[in-house]
Amino acid sequence: MSSKSILLLPGDGIGPEIVAEARKVLTWLAQQSGLTLVMEEGLIGGAAYDATGNPLPEETLQRARACDAVLLGAVGGPKWEPLPYEVRPERGLLGIRKALDLYCNLRPAKLFSQLVDASTLKREVVEGTDIMVVRELSSGIYFGQPRGVQTLADGSRLGINTLSYSTSEIERIARSAFEVARKRQKKLCSVDKANVLEATELWREVVIAVGKEYPDVALSHMYVDNAAMQLIRNPRQFDVIVTTNMFGDILSDEASMLTGSIGMLPSASLGDTAALYEPIHGSAPDIVGLGVANPLATILSAAMMLRHSLALPELADRVETAVNRVLDQGLRTPDIMQTGMQKVGTVAMGDAVVAALSES
Ligand code: NAD
Repeated sequence: MSSKSILLLPGDGIGPEIVAEARKVLTWLAQQSGLTLVMEEGLIGGAAYDATGNPLPEETLQRARACDAVLLGAVGGPKWEPLPYEVRPERGLLGIRKALDLYCNLRPAKLFSQLVDASTLKREVVEGTDIMVVRELSSGIYFGQPRGVQTLADGSRLGINTLSYSTSEIERIARSAFEVARKRQKKLCSVDKANVLEATELWREVVIAVGKEYPDVALSHMYVDNAAMQLIRNPRQFDVIVTTNMFGDILSDEASMLTGSIGMLPSASLGDTAALYEPIHGSAPDIVGLGVANPLATILSAAMMLRHSLALPELADRVETAVNRVLDQGLRTPDIMQTGMQKVGTVAMGDAVVAALSES
């Protein structure tokens, strides 16, 4: 097998704890499969700010460009909240997504059948949930100009953010989403607010035009307010959802609750020449250092990396099977704990995944 290089960016809060477990799994897989996996760690977020004064040091960016894939933990935390926006940890994350032009964010919301009762929603609603949210990641209101807070002549203040999308930005994310749908149930729902926002009226027009190239995929459209409702009313109606940056941010967190815990959900952020994988949750400052964080979202992100960036789908399958197996064994971190199950911490959960892998 060939040699692959991965940049690990543990970041802040529980980031280092959960990335260590994913690293353990990757190291084991590499040893067993004869794959040479070069894993190096870099700085991002608050940890990078503390060390260098910059949440996204140039060195991190250079190393991210040079490697095959990046695996990130999480950034942010109360310690850095008083800082000006431009050096906040979250700027590091937005910055790396932008710099690597990671425009396509894949956020699967798949319910593990063992966790059906961990969801706050009823079993008959969530059972069978298997949705892929395709979120546009490098444009839209999180990046549009002008932005900022201005002081007006009368002394009052005006906050401004701009929602803008170009045809080419919509075309490329639509194409990614149609390709994803093609490999699944061939159903794509584009979510917008075309009745109110001109930028998403264009979004709808362009998605329809791209859809002509994919006659085998059934395309539908939904306004975002309805989509938020439909997701918890009947999630099984969805296969793939494609939407803008902010709508995708919100809807994918909502979808995560269908599956029981935010600690279970991985994500991939893909560009044409780079890719970054991370759990969808944040740095969880409330549980940092307690050894209770769920590492499975990060381990499943590593599985997505094996599949999408390293072209090793059989190893990705093995990791996903191992995660299923530890859930079958009844092991649970506190966020997914259920009566009658065995409560374990972060390290024990990582060890259990490695043990399950060695049984496969
Ligand atoms: P969060 O996702 O960090 O935490 C929300 C809740 O989920 C908390 O109760 C936390 O304990 C729990 N949780 C999250 N991940 C978990 C895991 N792996 N195992 C068990 N429980 C878990 O969101 P937040 O509290 O809104 O934000 C905290 C910080 O994280 C903020 O600074 C925010 O900006 C940052 N953040 C970063 C990212 C990222 O790095 N991608 C994403 C979201 C938030």
